[in-house]
Amino acid sequence: MTKYLVVTGGVLSGLGKGVITASTGLLLKSLGYSVTAIKIDPYVNVDAGTMNPYMHGEVFVTDDGGETDLDMGHYERFLNTGLSKKNNITTGQIFMKVIEKERAGAYLGQCVQIIPHVTDEVKSRISEVSRETGADIVLVEIGGTIGDIEGLPFLEAVRQLRMEEGVDNVAFIHVALAPFLPTTGELKTKPVQHSVQELRRIGIQPDAVIVRSTAWLDDEARRKIALYSNLPQLAVFSVPDLDTIYRVPLVLNEQDFTKYIAERMKLKYTDPDLGEWRNYIERLINANRGVSIAMVGKYTKLHDSYISIVEALNHSGALIGVKPNLKWIEASEIEEGVVKPESILESNGVIVLPGFGRRGAEGKIKAIEIARESKKPLLGICFGFQLMIVEYARNVIGLSGANSTEVDPQTHHPVIDLLPEQRAVNRLGGTMRLGLHPIKITAGTLAYEIYGKEIIYERHRHRYEVNAKYIDLLESGGLTISGWSIDGFPEIIELKDSDFYLGIQAHPEFRSRPLNPSPIYVKFLERAALDAC
Ligand code: GLN
Repeated sequence: MTKYLVVTGGVLSGLGKGVITASTGLLLKSLGYSVTAIKIDPYVNVDAGTMNPYMHGEVFVTDDGGETDLDMGHYERFLNTGLSKKNNITTGQIFMKVIEKERAGAYLGQCVQIIPHVTDEVKSRISEVSRETGADIVLVEIGGTIGDIEGLPFLEAVRQLRMEEGVDNVAFIHVALAPFLPTTGELKTKPVQHSVQELRRIGIQPDAVIVRSTAWLDDEARRKIALYSNLPQLAVFSVPDLDTIYRVPLVLNEQDFTKYIAERMKLKYTDPDLGEWRNYIERLINANRGVSIAMVGKYTKLHDSYISIVEALNHSGALIGVKPNLKWIEASEIEEGVVKPESILESNGVIVLPGFGRRGAEGKIKAIEIARESKKPLLGICFGFQLMIVEYARNVIGLSGANSTEVDPQTHHPVIDLLPEQRAVNRLGGTMRLGLHPIKITAGTLAYEIYGKEIIYERHRHRYEVNAKYIDLLESGGLTISGWSIDGFPEIIELKDSDFYLGIQAHPEFRSRPLNPSPIYVKFLERAALDAC
């Protein structure tokens, strides 16, 4: 019998509910169960693909090409498992399905309503994931905050789920904020109490409350929250701000959270072995060789826009004892003259970040030129890779005005152009080249040294690619193409006489895991660490 553990949030969004869900998954997995996690996003968008990263942070790409919420990245990293796009459910997807069925006459003349038709569709999506993964435990995180109108149909669906699946098989965890009031020097519990009351009004009695706060919850606060939540005190857990998000599972486990959930859901319990995870945190915290990395991008004011890249650097740093210090550089400020492009040379390595559109492209190209000329370790990811080609074409091969047609549709030298299959595409959502694709690596190159094999798989998300007409010119002009797609377009570029000059069309950061970091990021950081010596 599948067990479902539903996570809701109260008071504010952005409390780290995704990390808490992921941590719960890790703890239950360590009891020997197979675990999967679903993120429900109550917005009407069909997926995160069309959303500006400033609104919603990074778009996380799954193996099967889903453009999903960034919490899916936390789940994959903590559970050390690849997830499907089906694990990210939105209001848009549910409504689309219900409307399709209605148009096909599937409701046989009934009046189609939120309850039961929309809620049934939600439950059927949840059980589809359960069936297809065969997981013992399915975590379901409901995005947003209790009280949001958008969240109601989903809360109603999981309320029904408990009725249908039985009390032992469905449990609820509520995550809420206790703000610290500096004037009185105490954590205030009232917002938590109110959000639990709101949840109960909807018909959901939480089985555990996890309180987020800047400091540890004291006994008095715990007692109050327990009383108002209709729970024993041992069902109230504290997660204060920590030095790293990876410590959350340990902090919960130390409060006997795993044991409590196991008892509540009638799971077998043995003390979880968190040794490997603990070692990882030790290495992460003790990595003290500081290496500074210039992060040149377009959404640099919200670091969550690049969260998988930041995490890939953290994973890699923990492996080799390096602490990456990130210096965020807004590419459009290079264009406006607010930031000197030479300032990237103060860092030990440069990453030109993924992105879309014209703004900031010239700033990135300038940063690439400076990094290449001064032989700074340089890593270009996706759009960063494409702009490395543009820079090389302009400044080394001499194709003046070379560009990507995404940035300048009129360019005389369209070295980056739309993928052929994209020419007929006129809709935005889910239409890029997405997900896992193989890359053939050329022996004797840096890419081969990094991956150690001829065929690798990385996740993609792009509409443009290197224009085949320019491949010969780029190669005869000294650029090494060390990775190729199966249909013959460049996926990885490098330069022979450089310590680390590498661009990749794919996003290796999406497959980086704490205990298994992405090899490209490891090598980049190793080379940047040499620059720091
Ligand atoms: N804008 C580029 C493209 O669509 C790169 C996308 C990206 O960086 N993810 O091809």
